[in-house]
Amino acid sequence: MDIQISKTTTPKSRPPESELGFGRFFSDHLFAMDFSADKGWHDARIQPYGPFQVDPAAGVFHYGQAMFEGSKAFCGDDGVLRLFRPMAHAERMMAGAPRLCMPTPSAEQMVEACKALVRVDADWVPKASGTSLYLRPTLIATEGFLGVRPANEYRYFIIASPVGSYYGGSGLKPVRIWVETVDVRAPRGGLGAAKAGANYAASLHAAVKAKKAGFDQVLWLDGQTHELVEEVGTMNLFALLGNTLITPPLSDSILAGVTRDSVITLSKDLGLTVEQRALSVKELRAAHAKGELREVFGTGTAAVVSPVGELAFAGETLRINDGAPGALGLKLYETITGIQRGALKDAHGWMVTV
Ligand SMILES: *Cc1c(COP(=O)(O)O)cnc(C)c1O
Repeated sequence: MDIQISKTTTPKSRPPESELGFGRFFSDHLFAMDFSADKGWHDARIQPYGPFQVDPAAGVFHYGQAMFEGSKAFCGDDGVLRLFRPMAHAERMMAGAPRLCMPTPSAEQMVEACKALVRVDADWVPKASGTSLYLRPTLIATEGFLGVRPANEYRYFIIASPVGSYYGGSGLKPVRIWVETVDVRAPRGGLGAAKAGANYAASLHAAVKAKKAGFDQVLWLDGQTHELVEEVGTMNLFALLGNTLITPPLSDSILAGVTRDSVITLSKDLGLTVEQRALSVKELRAAHAKGELREVFGTGTAAVVSPVGELAFAGETLRINDGAPGALGLKLYETITGIQRGALKDAHGWMVTV
């Protein structure tokens, strides 16, 4: 892939690493590439970060043909820049796009584009422990046409945002979760297995209600029976029952998290039994009553591992591990972040040098 690079003449000053937060700052450049039915993918370029023009009739604004990814670049303790499982992220976009009738660049091109942008904006990869450069590849329909059919023109672009430690250095903080029984994140047969912006639009209403009621996020149940647990907020869900780690099986209503896959692999390395199977609210309640519900946590790129301290239903609250982070969640968090910084052995070949 031939990438034209035009560098900014007005570089921004970089924010202090202690004040990064999440998604507030953006690096000096972005990657972009366009698709048209006749030319295919073309015009790969790195250009100064900034607004770009899109036709107001573009499909992305009207019919929601939009998807994204989220991965991270790290500066190791050795000063080497590395991406965490970039191929798995690129392959997930490729796997999800056909559900929205969208074309993607090849997985190799998407990984190359991530590397090229990180090279140009290498100074934007923060160094402090827990920080990283968050990469946000995005795919949108750009053709200006109001007829309802898949667009003929698309843009794939990547922006980069230096982000701080999710937990701000104070250690893993368990969250309080509302079990949502009305709104559904993704129905069977829907877009749930694709990282489509539409799934996030569908999730905001319940998340806002939960926040107003004093919770951090919601636990999503399946759209048919409202009895099976699916995901927690924008993360995959795990529960440790006795010595068995359980996570719902992948389906068209569950996003195949790269962190989920990593947690399954590392838990097996630790000798745990991992089951990918249906898990009902009833089973969670029964396990809690018997004192066997040891841990519940979410997994995702942003937080890595997010322990759940409380699961609240109408009229009942399950307190988990006395509201403290569990030992397994902590161990998995330390292991993944250690591999990402190059401090622990990368036994599964997950890190890719930029
Ligand atoms: C992105 C996402 C996840 C987590 O995926 P990772 O690859 O681990 O970051 C889980 N659930 C949903 C709904 C998501 O959008």
